[in-house]
Amino acid sequence: MSFLSATLARVKPSPTVAITNLAQEMKAAGADVIALSAGEPDFDTPDHIKAAAVRVIGEGRTRYTAVDGIAELKSAICAKFARDNDLSYSPSQISVATGGKQVLYNALMATLNPGDEVVIPAPYWVSYPDMVRLGGGTPVIAETSLETRFKLTPEALDAAITEKTKWFIFNSPSNPSGAGYTRDELQALTDVLLRHPHVWILSDDMYEHIAYDGFEFWSPAQVEPKLLPRTLTVNGVSKAYAMTGWRIGYAGGPEDLIGAMRKIQSQSTTNPCSISQWAAVEALNGPQDCLAENAALFRRRRDLVVAALNAVDGITCPVPEGAFYVYPSIAGLIGRKMPDGTVIDSDETFCTKLLETSGVAVVFGAAFGLSPHFRVSYAAADDVLAEACRRIAAFAGSLA
Ligand code: PLP
Repeated sequence: MSFLSATLARVKPSPTVAITNLAQEMKAAGADVIALSAGEPDFDTPDHIKAAAVRVIGEGRTRYTAVDGIAELKSAICAKFARDNDLSYSPSQISVATGGKQVLYNALMATLNPGDEVVIPAPYWVSYPDMVRLGGGTPVIAETSLETRFKLTPEALDAAITEKTKWFIFNSPSNPSGAGYTRDELQALTDVLLRHPHVWILSDDMYEHIAYDGFEFWSPAQVEPKLLPRTLTVNGVSKAYAMTGWRIGYAGGPEDLIGAMRKIQSQSTTNPCSISQWAAVEALNGPQDCLAENAALFRRRRDLVVAALNAVDGITCPVPEGAFYVYPSIAGLIGRKMPDGTVIDSDETFCTKLLETSGVAVVFGAAFGLSPHFRVSYAAADDVLAEACRRIAAFAGSLA
């Protein structure tokens, strides 16, 4: 009998982490590698947030806290939901965890039973299907396409729902496509969900503040308040405030669900880091100027990358509404050959060969459930992005 659990056989390690690690190893061995594979802002946490953390260390706020968050942070989160999303939650409806990732994990572990289905639009954030499998559930993938600019149609959502569906996971703006749903597009989905009262909505709003060209962010329970009693609205400070390492994510939802998530957390990590929680209080209550500044910076980079990639024969790159990713199609390159005869037969081959020959690390679309594509994270300096795009163009140009 295997020492390892049967659960482990159902999941795979994160491919984005694997590619980032490989790029780092190549770099350490002296290779000239540009890694555009990681999903984090490339700038530092704002000074006033760092100062708040230093202050609370001095004050000795370094002990265990309440399992799912200190009262001050829960109030700051309630204020944030009211301010930004017109959502009214009380502190007892708030859960704070070690990153949005743990919030999602707690929610799925607290609710899934074998046979339960979770509808996930593709392309998806790599962790959703594996977390569902860890919880014993079955991911049901609802594909989108380049034609709908990676947005799920109401028909596709309706077709994916069965009587076994427990959750629908919604992520806008999306990792990996950057697609952001307008109010009308989201309303078309919430209309479908109204017709299926047994389906709960897990809205991952992590990239809310990284959106461009006047894109107006909407969360499902905001568009359709009737869904509030069966929606978990998830967010975090990682992407908005460049705080990936601090590990604070949060959610608002019905009290029973929040209590069930608390139980899971109490037997796993106890509470999120006390110091990070105080830093998150400052992030949410303090000056918000960094949000618009960062979005403006990312927008310039998005435009640079989209223009450079669309200039490459064989690559089609839609213009995303938000996040810091583009998800170009390489349909025009599939079947072409490298000078050594290697056929580019998949997006995985394309990305592997691009890294080996040209030193650019991007993540292949199959990892996100929609091929043939690749994901570029443009959280990097302009000159680095320009050089990466030049190398991608040269690699694509070498294919015959
Ligand atoms: N959701 C999405 C769509 C993400 O891209 C990420 C991070 O990459 C997370 C959730 C988790 O973020 P964190 O755990 O840092 O809060």
